[in-house]
Amino acid sequence: MLRVDIITIFPDYFREPFDYGIIRRARAASLVEIKAHDLRSWTSDKHKVVDDRPFGGGDGMVLKPEPIFAAVEALAEARRREDIGPTKRVVLLSPQGKPLTQSLATEFAQCEQLVLVCGRYEGVDERVADVLVTDEISIGDYVLSGGEPAALVVIDAVIRLIPGALGSETSASTESFSDGLLDYPHYTRPPEFDGKKVPEVLLTGHHADIARWRRQAAEEKTKRNRPDLLKK
Ligand code: SAM
Repeated sequence: MLRVDIITIFPDYFREPFDYGIIRRARAASLVEIKAHDLRSWTSDKHKVVDDRPFGGGDGMVLKPEPIFAAVEALAEARRREDIGPTKRVVLLSPQGKPLTQSLATEFAQCEQLVLVCGRYEGVDERVADVLVTDEISIGDYVLSGGEPAALVVIDAVIRLIPGALGSETSASTESFSDGLLDYPHYTRPPEFDGKKVPEVLLTGHHADIARWRRQAAEEKTKRNRPDLLKK
């Protein structure tokens, strides 16, 4: 089972999103357990301060290192007591991180503990990235207000790659990025909508022709929308 521990100043942010669809089913089947932890519970002062002004000046506040180090250590210790194996990744969500990819999500899906550190304000004291985390990860080239939506994205991408999470009706191996291409286009009823017809071949029932058409359509769509994938 994959244990996901989220470190955040807004644990209530995660109250509902794991109650739907594939994530809900994966939790019910004990494929994954997800807990959101309040960073403030690892502070030692009366006001539970987690941030401070940046050295060198400038706008905004920075999340302090001590509570984050204490949180990661405490969670590792708690999981050790539960006899969780050593395959652990500690991820800092950050726009300065490496891009999240399907292959990275596949690696995360295979570990036993995934700790996600959510930044806020101007970000997190750099010593967290330097010393504590195994992966500094970005979900795209734009800036969010906090790591929480990014953590949701990582968790969703990872859980659907845990064997058994998708059920028998669909498989991650045929989805976009699994073979370097985007997925092929999908159609359902009606066969004609608003003057637009479903490609004839999909109505023939001829499996080899359909497979050929899908491969070609996937290549064309990848060329059109993501030529960078073809170069790779
Ligand atoms: N000053 C930082 C910069 O310009 O790189 C931006 C900090 S951002 C306002 C606050 C937090 O949101 C970050 O510490 C990070 O946890 C999260 N965040 C923002 N954009 C993100 C992205 N693209 N991917 C992952 N996390 C992101």
